[in-house]
Amino acid sequence: MEIAIIAHDGKKADMVQFLNENRDILHQKNITLVSTGTTGEKVKKAGFRVNALLSGPLGGDAQIAARVAEDKCNMVLFFRDPLDKHPHEPDILMLMRLCDVHNVPLATNPATAELLIKAI
Ligand code: PGA
Repeated sequence: MEIAIIAHDGKKADMVQFLNENRDILHQKNITLVSTGTTGEKVKKAGFRVNALLSGPLGGDAQIAARVAEDKCNMVLFFRDPLDKHPHEPDILMLMRLCDVHNVPLATNPATAELLIKAI
C-alpha cells in the first residue's frame, strides 16, 4: 500500500509529530511512503524510507496526483495550511479532485489523517 505524505510549510511540524506518533503503523512492511520534495526530507530525517518526488511548487503535488490517477497511490495524507497562499494551488486542486475521481482516501488535516491511519 502506497501512502502519500504532503505538508505545507506551516504544517510540517504537525506532520513530523504525526509520523512519530504513528511510527509502528507506518513501519509495517506492506506500506511504502511517497512525498513531495521538502516534506520528503523531513520524513527521512524522522527515520522513514520515502520516495521523495519534486517539491510541491515545482510539480510534486502533480506527480502524486498522477500516481493517484494511475492507481499507484492508495491514500493521501495532506497537511494543508489554509492560512497561507500557494503558487501551486491549481496542482493542489487537481490532486484533491483526482482523489475524488478515483475514490482514494484523502486527509486534508491532522485529525483526519489520524483517523485514516488508524483504519488501515
Ligand atoms: P514540499 O511541497 O513538500 O516540497 O514543501 C509541499 C506542497 O507545498 O505541496
